[in-house]
Amino acid sequence: MAAELPHQDPDAFRRQAHQVVDWMADYLARVGELPVQPHAPPGAVLAQIPDAPPEQPEAFERIMADFERVIVPGLTHWGHPGFFAFFPANNSPPSVLAEMLTATIGSQCMSWGTSPAATELEQATMEWLRQMVGLPTGFTGVIQDTASTATLVALITARDAKTQGRNGGRADGRTGGVEVEPSAVSTDRLTAYTSEEANSSVPKGMRLAGFRPDRIRLIPTHEDCSMRAEALARAIERDRAEHLTPACVVATVGTTSTTAIDPIPAISAICRREGAWLHVDAAWAGSAAVLPEMRWIFDGVAEADSVVINPHKWMLVNFDCSAYYVRDVDALLRSFSASAAYLKSAEGTRVVNYRDWGIQLGRRFRALKLWFVIRSYGVEGLRAMLREHLRLGALFAGWVDAHPDFERLAPAPLGLVCFRQIAVGGKPAGGTLDTLNERLLSRLHATGRIMLTQTRVKGRYALRLALGHLTTTEAHVREAWELIQGVASSD
Ligand code: PLP
Repeated sequence: MAAELPHQDPDAFRRQAHQVVDWMADYLARVGELPVQPHAPPGAVLAQIPDAPPEQPEAFERIMADFERVIVPGLTHWGHPGFFAFFPANNSPPSVLAEMLTATIGSQCMSWGTSPAATELEQATMEWLRQMVGLPTGFTGVIQDTASTATLVALITARDAKTQGRNGGRADGRTGGVEVEPSAVSTDRLTAYTSEEANSSVPKGMRLAGFRPDRIRLIPTHEDCSMRAEALARAIERDRAEHLTPACVVATVGTTSTTAIDPIPAISAICRREGAWLHVDAAWAGSAAVLPEMRWIFDGVAEADSVVINPHKWMLVNFDCSAYYVRDVDALLRSFSASAAYLKSAEGTRVVNYRDWGIQLGRRFRALKLWFVIRSYGVEGLRAMLREHLRLGALFAGWVDAHPDFERLAPAPLGLVCFRQIAVGGKPAGGTLDTLNERLLSRLHATGRIMLTQTRVKGRYALRLALGHLTTTEAHVREAWELIQGVASSD
């Protein structure tokens, strides 16, 4: 029997959508009662999924039932109030609703003409966010999927500025067709710098952008894990002596391990002197600049060439939404413009075509969720949320500091606390502290009530407790601390 032709049935869709929305609201109400991460071994979900796709259509009810039976028990619940791992991937009701609309509209936003409202809303929301975090007017924003991509885009632009010349390289959009300036340098001779504490995406981006692995410098850090600017200057000096050309420095405002803040004013002075592109990775911490009292974290960032901030980490916007700000849009376009007969449009250069601002041709409509979130909470609402997370972080750090069995391993200015157990009931623990804390983490996870991640701070194994979810309250942080103390003292 021939299968029915796929078609839209608005009535069935309405019924199923109501069912899904009911499921979503129930999930949000009960997520805190679920184990924060699954305990099933690797392969447990895969084993429940048929090896081959269904030949015949399956009923929506059956698919939903399998979603609840097979998928949900295998999920790590990032929105669980006991989720303190990594940095958050946020969501919030207005963001989810916007994502539903985005999915329903189904636009593909590569060019102005493929969705004019999406392009213009992206322009508007990037301008709003620029004002919110206090970047100067010289910065223009574009939404990338992730900070990893934004940093890769910065690195490619910085590379091209050296290999084609800052003002050269008029691309014909297909082969590049670049007019290379006499000052151009071969990629082989370029160097790139970041700190040893940079996110894993940074050295990876450097390799992907074509920097030779032996030309990538990981600069040492101070005791507080921020980059040593004088070590950067020395590394550049050594490279210059080898006739190498420094192309890019990636500095971090809020490192992944400990939220350390690199000395941007000093780094920026070095970059200007050396003619190197300065990209600032503020993926996590950038949102905090919305608070006037935290604006200091962006000291010197006005001098950078590009900056990335992730509203999907700490501004209640669903993954993915990464705001990339650049000062020299022409340099960006030289690297990323692409043309083809089928992309030509009557508007020509009078409009923004975001396909020319990044790697992908096809693009999601990401501005809608940012617009919904900023409007639903207002900048004041977002400030209140950020202040509360900073307060909870400071509260937790204070509890750790006051407890003789624990110590804090790094400053905690941005809602992330790195700590470890050092004693049991006031007495030195047997074995190494690394082993003690590895065991503590796995026993905490076995409770299913909280999830943290581990890192190393100056070589010492540390537990990381990161705040930043809409649902996390003081009561949840207190519960987490009680659980940590209880499990630690029962060793
Ligand atoms: N940069 C920093 C400082 C981060 O903490 C992270 C992730 O936590 C990233 C970059 C990578 O972010 P994304 O997942 O958006 O690529």
